[in-house]
Amino acid sequence: MKKRSIHSLRRLVPAAVALLMFLPALAAQSTPTEPEMKFGIPVKPGPMDSVLLKDYKPDVSLVLPRTIVEKARFPVIDAHTHSGMSHIRTAADVDAWVRTMDDVGVEYTVVFTGAIGDEFAQQVKLFAPHRDRFQLWCSLDTENVDDPGYPRRVAEGVERCYQMGARGIGEITDKGSGIQEASVPKGERLHIDDPRLDLAWQACARLKMPVNVHIADHPSAWQPLGPHQERTPDFQTFNLYGKDVLSYEELLARRDRLLLRNPETLFILCHLSNQGNNLAALSKVLERFPGLHLDLSARDYEIGRQPRAAAAFLAKYKDRILFGTDMERDAAMYRGWWQLLETADEFLPGRIWWPYYGLDLPDPVLEALYRKNAKRLLNWTPW
Ligand SMILES: [Zn+2]
Repeated sequence: MKKRSIHSLRRLVPAAVALLMFLPALAAQSTPTEPEMKFGIPVKPGPMDSVLLKDYKPDVSLVLPRTIVEKARFPVIDAHTHSGMSHIRTAADVDAWVRTMDDVGVEYTVVFTGAIGDEFAQQVKLFAPHRDRFQLWCSLDTENVDDPGYPRRVAEGVERCYQMGARGIGEITDKGSGIQEASVPKGERLHIDDPRLDLAWQACARLKMPVNVHIADHPSAWQPLGPHQERTPDFQTFNLYGKDVLSYEELLARRDRLLLRNPETLFILCHLSNQGNNLAALSKVLERFPGLHLDLSARDYEIGRQPRAAAAFLAKYKDRILFGTDMERDAAMYRGWWQLLETADEFLPGRIWWPYYGLDLPDPVLEALYRKNAKRLLNWTPW
């Protein structure tokens, strides 16, 4: 062993000497005497080189008319909000929520409580004083899913929640590690198309409870964090690259299997089914599944960066898409949505680095998204 390593060392020495001789020439070659040109402009070093991406917040000199839309053009039904994990704990919190709704023109709000059983009963109590303004949706029992009685138990849970006042299920999320809240090992995961959920989906169909499903996530979540990552550092918390989860494509395939297996159940895929980046592909999904519906929530950045394609898409499928926000509940957030959907304002500040452009939607499209579809599709049985 020793002999061989000495031998190879002897061969390496002349090579190293040769490399050392050429190094100055190599260094001279890599130091450009002329500044690099980009789009015909010389790129010179300067203070901007040390600015971090997360700190880059350029001022805007562009002068354009701005349309402030205080209230939506039609009374809105917000079909995607949450009460769990947030600041809605007291009657005063709910009162404040109603005041915001009045200020911005939201007539009615669908609340995903994320709760079942006693916890759901508590939510019913909390919102009951404003039952004319809110509809509460419940979650699914995801405990002990390997128990042979689980399929029946989860379906009975849906029925019980309905009796307490639930009028839909959601948001049920599968970002690749199953629909359970806590992270569970691979073999124990319950994915959205699992046959153990069939009885629950059938109960939803029977009770006319729509199901809001969050499948996959924005496709950039499966891309590495680095210089080519599409979304800004604010979104890195959602990154799944290299994690022990199903691929984006596998999740969409499971969505398709879910829809094929349960044609009687009304599924609303939220966030444009996380395919808002590819409206042509999303159109094909809508064509393939005529019973499928979508919500717009939290995809302001997808429609705002492609206003013409998005306006055409929303016009074509105006009866299949519900308005929803999923972004807390302040007035400015709502008014940002009204401006995006109702005006032709340009270069609006967005949540990601790309600016938004108003879609200037015509009245029939706006009215369908804002309220008509929700009026037709949701379960309005008094609770
Ligand atoms: Zn949500």
